[in-house]
Amino acid sequence: MTTLMTYAGPVDAAALVTRTGGVPLTPAGFSWPRCATCAGAMQFLAQLLLDDLVLAVFMCQNDPGMCDDWDPASGGNRALLFPRGGLAAAPVPDRGATLLSEVCGIAYATVDEADYDKARDQWCATHDRDVLEVLGRFGGAPSWLQGDETPPCPSCARPMAFAAQLEEGHDHRTAMNFGGGGCGYAFTCAPCLAAAFLWQC
Ligand SMILES: [Zn+2]
Ligand SMILES: [Zn+2]
Repeated sequence: MTTLMTYAGPVDAAALVTRTGGVPLTPAGFSWPRCATCAGAMQFLAQLLLDDLVLAVFMCQNDPGMCDDWDPASGGNRALLFPRGGLAAAPVPDRGATLLSEVCGIAYATVDEADYDKARDQWCATHDRDVLEVLGRFGGAPSWLQGDETPPCPSCARPMAFAAQLEEGHDHRTAMNFGGGGCGYAFTCAPCLAAAFLWQC
């Protein structure tokens, strides 16, 4: 069984839904993540609703290729986990590559096939949709493009739980940059309220 995330058209930039792009919903006192290498404000990529938590993913795009933004621990990206209550649209920094140019709603499609690539092909064939309209995988297991890089939790050091795999997007003009045809991988450790992100291509 695979739960695919599929392109569901535009949604409001501050909607409390699973989406790519738009503005992150964050708790009071939130400070927008900055890159450890270039110190610029990171780009908000995606918001994923998990049970009672919200996962927000950021990555530096101020100097693409120069900030180790693929790495879960180098400070070139940031994944944050918030309790779902009391969130509000974060103030967006004035400078830096902070927002994607399109907000994409995400729908879920369950396919009776464990392999991600096969599930994707099957869904596209069944629904006559383009492969680019599959925006990733929700839960299950990561479909690694390279080797397994499941990160340890920065707090408790246990392997983190896989949350979602993200494709770059349905339109290359507004897509996320995972090296060109890459995938992003988001992980959480719910007890520690911790999250991590990396990408491979
Ligand atoms: Zn940077
Ligand atoms: Zn932990």
